[in-house]
Amino acid sequence: MDQNQNQNNGPRNDGPKNKQSLLVILICIIISLVMVNLLGRMSKGMTSEVEYSEFIEMLDKGEVESVSLKADTLTVTLKKQKKMGSPTTIYTTLMEDSSELVKRLEKAGVEKFNREKQDVVSEVLYTLLSMVVSVVVMVTLMSFLFRRMNKNGGMMGGVGKSKAKAYVQKETGITFKDVAGQDEAKESLQEVVDFLHNPVKYTTIGAKLPKGALLVGPPGTGKTLLAKAVAGEAHVPFFSLSGSDFVEMFVGVGASRVRDLFEEAKKNAPCIIFIDEVDAIGKSRDARYGGNDEREQTLNQLLAEMDGFDTSKGLLILAATNRPEVLDPALLRPGRFDRRVIVDRPDLKGRVNILKVHAKNVALDESVDLEGIALATSGAVGSDLANMINEAAILAVKNGRKAVSQKDLLEAVEVVLVGKEKKDRILSQEERKIVSYHEVGHALVSALQKDSEPVQKITIVPRTMGALGYVMHVPEEEKFLNTRKELEAMLVGYLGGRAAEELVFDTVTTGAANDIEQATKVARAMITQYGMSDRFGLMGLAETQSQYLDGRTVLNCGDATATEIDHEVMKLLKKSYDEAKRLLSENREVMDKIAGFLIQKETITGKEFMKIFREAKGIKEPEIQDAIEQKNEIVE
Ligand code: ADP
Repeated sequence: MDQNQNQNNGPRNDGPKNKQSLLVILICIIISLVMVNLLGRMSKGMTSEVEYSEFIEMLDKGEVESVSLKADTLTVTLKKQKKMGSPTTIYTTLMEDSSELVKRLEKAGVEKFNREKQDVVSEVLYTLLSMVVSVVVMVTLMSFLFRRMNKNGGMMGGVGKSKAKAYVQKETGITFKDVAGQDEAKESLQEVVDFLHNPVKYTTIGAKLPKGALLVGPPGTGKTLLAKAVAGEAHVPFFSLSGSDFVEMFVGVGASRVRDLFEEAKKNAPCIIFIDEVDAIGKSRDARYGGNDEREQTLNQLLAEMDGFDTSKGLLILAATNRPEVLDPALLRPGRFDRRVIVDRPDLKGRVNILKVHAKNVALDESVDLEGIALATSGAVGSDLANMINEAAILAVKNGRKAVSQKDLLEAVEVVLVGKEKKDRILSQEERKIVSYHEVGHALVSALQKDSEPVQKITIVPRTMGALGYVMHVPEEEKFLNTRKELEAMLVGYLGGRAAEELVFDTVTTGAANDIEQATKVARAMITQYGMSDRFGLMGLAETQSQYLDGRTVLNCGDATATEIDHEVMKLLKKSYDEAKRLLSENREVMDKIAGFLIQKETITGKEFMKIFREAKGIKEPEIQDAIEQKNEIVE
């Protein structure tokens, strides 16, 4: 998630390190060999070797001054330099009996001949010296290498070491001001900050201090940011690491890392340990989620350490997860992670504040209305919003502007939600027509129904995330509840695209796959979770599994009921589809007009859409305005 996981001391780097040390050892050996060779040569003097026959030739020519024999090596000193650069001393190996050599020397008139005894002492000394030199070279290089590896905590010596990276306040530099829209979470954590500042205040009254807090919420809502802000506010060091950093191939390493982390943290107390994605180690030991010895050992160690430390020292553990349901109950009991701080998706006000925080350092022009952007981004999390602001700034630069405008921001919202415009995808005339009718089908059904959101924009420009066109809805206000009528209207809206295709072209295409998926999801939820079916009444038939991730549900009923549920879903979808077809066929003329306009323009705004809609339906504008105020009806 952030830089603290990108340390270069992990086992991932052991491979290159192993290679490096092998290379160094190899270099040592080569250097030693070269040195031994050099020493050998030095001991023989700077001489050159010649064939024995060559030596005899020189002897015959009278070029030899003196000869000395040691073992079977003859060292020969020549009378004078014959050629420039040729050596004055040469050596050769004796190839005959030494008495024969003596005769030859006498014959050639060489008087200086001495026979050296083999010097055993110097031989041994020479061997010893070369060994000592090579060992010294190797030891020096190896110790240098190990010192470097230890510094990085790598190789085997560092496996059990904690990989947590300590941040001091100066480095996190983040305070609660940087976290927007999570007021409740901040409030709960404010106490924790106070406790880190002044633990004595709590202990004197006899209050037990919290050991840990679990930050729970969907990805990107600012859990890591909040943990950093706690450290920043409390001005204490911040040890940050991810749950997966503990998990290693070798059994026992995780546990040893936990031990090491706590030891390190205790030395630095008061401080905060932050474990991101704690579910990687804290998964329930129940075999339902798959057993794993290493993980269980690591978890046991974590539990033991959490029991073992003294809170009065000011050590606090924060952990983040988006899957609280899989955590081991032992981890959640009082005395361990006894506080649960929910960091949920921001609401409208929260989104506005997050946009403001991120827009602080971005030049905005007067057209910008962050509230409008927040309205259009229902369901977006903090990281999405941060991304949108940045995308908008990049767009403004690309268009050669000095400040970001509302148009850039809206475009950025679309880039984040549906991808960039895919200009190189050329649709055939027929396909453009189908896509136009499909999108107008959605929009028209929405506009014709009282309980659906107004249309903001319709486009048939393909996007990189796969959409060939889409309708953008922007609600007038944020909703936390949906009525049955609204959900039914939503279903008709989803199926409006397919209904238009069938009505106009008398055939259907693959373009409705995503609509069908969404509609089925809503219909299924209405029947199994919201108690909105006449057939099953209030019976709860499904359970949410991962509330903070994809919100997946599992059925909680018998097979026969599951089959009946499928029938009910089918019935509901069919009813909605028929309704969509009815609405569109009654308004065929309006649909043709808007679709024709859309084919021409590629993108039309909500205003343009409503103008054609009203003209075709013969509705005067003020009338509709009144209607909105009175009945909260559809607006542009
Ligand atoms: P999480 O840990 O929940 O997955 P992060 O804390 O890593 O999410 O958030 C990622 C980024 O999104 C942050 O660095 C920040 O820029 C932005 N962000 C998320 N939530 C908020 C928020 N509430 N206020 C401001 N910025 C936020």
